[in-house]
Amino acid sequence: MQKVSKADVLLIGAGIMSATLGMLLKLLDNSLQIRIVERLDSAAAESSDAWNNAGTGHSAFCELNYTPEKADGSIDISKAIKIAESFETSKQFWSYLVTNNIVEKPQDFIRSIPHVSFVWGDNNVNYLRKRYMALQQNSLFEGMQFSEDDAEIARWVPLVMKDRDTNNEAVAATKMNLGTDVNFGSLTRCMFNRLLKFDDVQVHYGQEVEDIEKHDDYWHVKVKDEETGNNSFIVARFVFIGAGGGSLPLLLKSGIPEAEGYGGFPVSGQWLRCTDEAVIQQHHAKVYGLAKVGSPPMSVPHLDTRWIKGKQELLFGPFAGFTTKFLRHGSAFDLFKSVKTDNIKPMVIAGLHNIPLTKYLIEQLMQSPEDRLEALKEYYPDAKLDEWELVVAGYRVQVIKKDEKEGGILEFGTEVVSAADRSIAALLGASPGASTAVSIMLDLLARCFPEKLKQDSWQQKLKEMIPSYGKSLKNDSALLARVRKNTTGVLGLEL
Ligand SMILES: Cc1cc2nc3c(=O)[nH]c(=O)nc-3n(C[C@H](O)[C@H](O)[C@H](O)COP(=O)(O)OP(=O)(O)OC[C@H]3O[C@@H](n4cnc5c(N)ncnc54)[C@H](O)[C@@H]3O)c2cc1C
Repeated sequence: MQKVSKADVLLIGAGIMSATLGMLLKLLDNSLQIRIVERLDSAAAESSDAWNNAGTGHSAFCELNYTPEKADGSIDISKAIKIAESFETSKQFWSYLVTNNIVEKPQDFIRSIPHVSFVWGDNNVNYLRKRYMALQQNSLFEGMQFSEDDAEIARWVPLVMKDRDTNNEAVAATKMNLGTDVNFGSLTRCMFNRLLKFDDVQVHYGQEVEDIEKHDDYWHVKVKDEETGNNSFIVARFVFIGAGGGSLPLLLKSGIPEAEGYGGFPVSGQWLRCTDEAVIQQHHAKVYGLAKVGSPPMSVPHLDTRWIKGKQELLFGPFAGFTTKFLRHGSAFDLFKSVKTDNIKPMVIAGLHNIPLTKYLIEQLMQSPEDRLEALKEYYPDAKLDEWELVVAGYRVQVIKKDEKEGGILEFGTEVVSAADRSIAALLGASPGASTAVSIMLDLLARCFPEKLKQDSWQQKLKEMIPSYGKSLKNDSALLARVRKNTTGVLGLEL
């Protein structure tokens, strides 16, 4: 007889997304029975772990792919505004967690670090100047500095300017002191530790979800114990598939019509990690550049100060690569197993339309240490090979979906797919990712718990946790200033 247990809510995967949703739900309704199932033996061991992502608190201060240049030469800042607002929402929720001793020490997961954009060449300098001017129109970007002065940029980012030939090529940079480095792994583990202290929350590690089927009003979820191989079932009214790269296969197994036509395009990642303490100490910024023409957004190079386990670190990358695995701890058959009759067409068409991307990823994978050093030298001209080691980063599964015009398209953002009856939702994609986890989960609550969300108790609690909830930060500079003053104070950040 197989073991069967019941829950109101089942969260699949113990990464930052499930942690955020679980925490929000339990704070909104303490009576909920929540089960969390994770195939690995600890929380945040895939993309949410510190070394598996870049730890950038994405606020669109330095990421140039969020501010594309339009055909008329003007800069589109709409995506940057949305991301900056979302990060303010995350910081408010995290501040609530700190104020209420749910997360103890903010410096264990978030630290101030200037966010710098750096470019070279006349065209790129013009672009950065225009971007800076455009961003000045919104108070979310107040405090940003722009410079074309070598000496000033060298004060901001000495490693980037050391031994750089600026006689023949113009350079420019912007700097935003409000930027952050976030250890999403540490934050996730803190949230899970606290979740376990609530009544009626259970986390099951070493348990892989194999199948999901709906019978009447309940999802029957088949779980395999990784150690014994035994199967059990969890029966839940609501299921969130927060399995990172593993979300797509489970969503397809759920059989909901909304999942039809979705496919995934996996991309592996690597960093160069600095091993020389003297070099690490000379850099104090996250420096983002422009992706090479024709390369995908996830290839934007950056030279990043990180804080991991209380130690300052320095990484450069990412170096993306072609893979068929959906998770770092996944199987080489993941991609092939995800091909179904209803997604084969969009996958093939998106694949054919993105042959240059596949070629780029294979080329990246074939790079020699010297090739990687050349890429690093564009940001740190004095870099030496023996000061850096190659480390593996997390995997992303980019979303492929049906498109009426094209047949199939590849997307680089995140997307929540949910059933019409609101009983199941999955998060696909990886960008801007963990930084916007709180906004993503608030959207999911609006979609899947609309009646509960109308209740006064939920509304009041959400406003207590996120003071700007339901209001627009982009249009209310006084509110933004109040919110920022509070979050920077509570989280120990620089304003
Ligand atoms: C190279 C790289 C750089 C990034 N940089 C940034 C950044 O700078 N800033 C930022 O905000 N975001 C960044 N991201 C994105 C960010 O890491 C992700 O958006 C975020 O961690 C996703 O969290 P998650 O909870 O959805 O997934 P994950 O953290 O991957 O967690 C999913 C969990 O589900 C488990 N699981 C999978 N399948 C099953 C199953 N069948 N049964 C049970 N459990 C299962 C996995 O083991 C895993 O623990 C980056 C990502 C990558 C790969």
